[in-house]
Amino acid sequence: MSTNTEIECPSCGGIILIDAARLLQGGSFGCTNPECDASVSLSQSSYQVANNAVREFEKFKGQLKGK
Ligand SMILES: [Zn+2]
Repeated sequence: MSTNTEIECPSCGGIILIDAARLLQGGSFGCTNPECDASVSLSQSSYQVANNAVREFEKFKGQLKGK
């Protein structure tokens, strides 16, 4: 199943596409805005952002289970 999620870029407000499974394995993900070089990973200062994304994903999974 897909673990993709989107978060708001902390730098430009654009979209960062995140694969939660890869994120937990140490992957990093860049902003989709070509003029922005922000990226998030669990090992960088944007940990909170990544953490939020994972939490959102867990919430989403919970909704799927509820159906
Ligand atoms: Zn950005």
